[in-house]
Amino acid sequence: MKQQLSLINTTSPVKTVGNNLKYSSLFSSDHRDYLLSPTGAKIKISDLEGKIVGIYFSANWYPQCQTFTKLLVKVYEHIKAKYGSNFEIVFVSSDEDLNAFNEYYQLHMPWLAIPFSDLETKKALNKMFDVEGIPCLIILQPNDNASVLHDGVELIYRYGVEAYPFSNERLDELLKQEKEKHERQTLSILLTNQDRDFVLTHSASKQVSISSLIGKTIGLYFSAQWCLPSHKFTPKLISIYQKIKQKLIQQDFNEENFEIIYVSSDHNEKEFESSFNSMPWLALPFRDPTNKDLTKYFDIRGIPSLIILGPDGKTVTKNGRSLINLYEEEAYPFTMARVETLENQMDEDAKNLPSMELHSGHHHELSLVSQGNGGGPFICCDCDEQGSGWAYQCIDCGYEVHTKCVRPVIRVSSA
Ligand SMILES: [Zn+2]
Ligand SMILES: [Zn+2]
Repeated sequence: MKQQLSLINTTSPVKTVGNNLKYSSLFSSDHRDYLLSPTGAKIKISDLEGKIVGIYFSANWYPQCQTFTKLLVKVYEHIKAKYGSNFEIVFVSSDEDLNAFNEYYQLHMPWLAIPFSDLETKKALNKMFDVEGIPCLIILQPNDNASVLHDGVELIYRYGVEAYPFSNERLDELLKQEKEKHERQTLSILLTNQDRDFVLTHSASKQVSISSLIGKTIGLYFSAQWCLPSHKFTPKLISIYQKIKQKLIQQDFNEENFEIIYVSSDHNEKEFESSFNSMPWLALPFRDPTNKDLTKYFDIRGIPSLIILGPDGKTVTKNGRSLINLYEEEAYPFTMARVETLENQMDEDAKNLPSMELHSGHHHELSLVSQGNGGGPFICCDCDEQGSGWAYQCIDCGYEVHTKCVRPVIRVSSA
């Protein structure tokens, strides 16, 4: 199973498509020179000229669209309140029928829409902007150098209202700000706020000062009780956390050189207590705003997620979960140099693996693949965890497992 990776463009995602982008030619049809408003009013397309316009491709039946719509409504209303009417969104529906469209549009969206019945215009827009998946938000600038921005969804998730007015200059500025922020990053800046300079611990003291954690390797563990994949990953992380501590003691290092802090997305205090009580490490207090701030700062899209901070407080890796899955306690201290050593070791070990393997969880023969050689990031079909690098894959089905997850088929011997 190929994993969908959200790649963040570090270069500017704006591309120029020509100078004569007119909203009237984009949104109208032979019979129509207006768009719908949620109240059913007809709004002249010519009213849009000169504005920044987002074209929103979405459908009610897709949960990812529903989630994004909620966020987009907030951002839209915020932009309207802050910058006035120079911005508009036009909904292009992929709903199954008129009822579904009406319910989704009228109840959930405050912006304009192409009428549901105008299949032709909707199709033409999908084609013109190469829409490959929903939700998709295309942003158009009204200036002479008409430019089209394709990853509006990504930008809204990442920057919210801050992304406005979505120009090249604005996006460059945001990237620069973000880079500077990460360069200034320290453990104290990340974890403390004006009301709190400690995290929670299970020991009698109940609190550990953040200053006492400076100089250590720290894992920020983003998780929640309602998250099913966490139920599998948390016990694994606990066992590896304990093994890393043991190893530090054996090597005459302080076992406190490594610590994990739980960053919770639990729905309520009770769930938080239950999660935290099952974990041997530290936690941010449940109602503390830093939980949300960190989720946003590290752009956490899915949990469980493990971010590793080095002794200098800088981010070592955002792929802690995947490294734990691949290398277990050997992954410590998660640095680039350590990962390189482990990758080389894995390449060495792979030389001794058979190029084909029969796995008892799948009925086709699996081939050994590696990064850049048929493989890439994947979700293991056997243990449901992330993987990358070497794997066994069924070319026909896309079925893919970690090399360590292969359970060879036992052939019954006739001897
Ligand atoms: Zn696996
Ligand atoms: Zn297969």
